[in-house]
Amino acid sequence: MNSSSAPGFGRRAFLGGIFAATAGGVVLGQDAKPAPKPKEHGNAIVYQFKIGEFDAWSISDGHMLFRGPLDLMWPREDQPQMKEWLESHGERMDGIPLYVNILVVRIGKEIALFDAGFGERDSTNIGWLQDGLKQAGIAPEQVTAGFLSHSHADHLAGFVAGGKPAFPNAAFYYLPEEYDFWHAKEPDFSKTKRNRAELPGMIREVCGQFDILKGVSQPAKAGTQFFNGAVTIEAAPGHTAGHAIFRIKSGNESLLHLMDLSHHHGFMFHNPNWYIAFDHDPMQSIDTRKKVFAQAAAERTRCYGFHVPWPGIGHVLPVGEGYLWHAERWSWGS
Ligand SMILES: [Zn+2]
Repeated sequence: MNSSSAPGFGRRAFLGGIFAATAGGVVLGQDAKPAPKPKEHGNAIVYQFKIGEFDAWSISDGHMLFRGPLDLMWPREDQPQMKEWLESHGERMDGIPLYVNILVVRIGKEIALFDAGFGERDSTNIGWLQDGLKQAGIAPEQVTAGFLSHSHADHLAGFVAGGKPAFPNAAFYYLPEEYDFWHAKEPDFSKTKRNRAELPGMIREVCGQFDILKGVSQPAKAGTQFFNGAVTIEAAPGHTAGHAIFRIKSGNESLLHLMDLSHHHGFMFHNPNWYIAFDHDPMQSIDTRKKVFAQAAAERTRCYGFHVPWPGIGHVLPVGEGYLWHAERWSWGS
């Protein structure tokens, strides 16, 4: 997706700089030490966790808020049920949030990035990945692998900065179907509900970014494994022709990155037939979603969602004819 947004929060409020507070210590007695100075934290944008032996980080690239909350949701005739879902779950009705969560995993000497967010934007609401990496102590030069799910701006644009690869030492992996779609003479947008006026500019932007990344590009077929089987790229077509999801494995633990199989923590789980205007081929994306969700629910797979509330780790549970996104509890330390 890469459409309308409205500011909700200032970036500064989210940046996690830690500042010493000014409170002075009070001496209570001979052995008493002043109470530790309280620290001020901005809202967190980096969450560190483990996938088996691997260190992992969920970094928020920010979020967007779609006003006229259901404008982008299809099928239109189901909108009353969508509204009911929002109301019955106490959701705010002033906009649908679209979170942008970036997964980063350290696998031995490799540092792998799964999509790269919006990159350089005018908005203070998005494009936080580089700040998040800094907080995690990761320099852009240390990233060795960039995995792309698909080429919409919230996923691809952050791989480029100042007309150059933003991560100069990272190989850039994607499914060949994704490249082929955008580089076709006339990319097939016949089934999408997207605003067609956006398409020529979008195609130009995507092809320009692929050009910049040419020197580091390594298209990889579905099923390809990386780093001794630690990462597998899988085809999950529909949202785009070459939309990929990723399975990360360490010992007996795994994490399935669902990418854009869902754009919301409620809608697409509650009813997998509900879809967003950004899908290139909605019916195919629904089929893919149903298959992947059914398998993830049956196997109780730990999952990660690009567009669910940050930090985006959870499980897909079967409920009625649909599913429920159940966020994992936060865990600090071991
Ligand atoms: Zn997206």
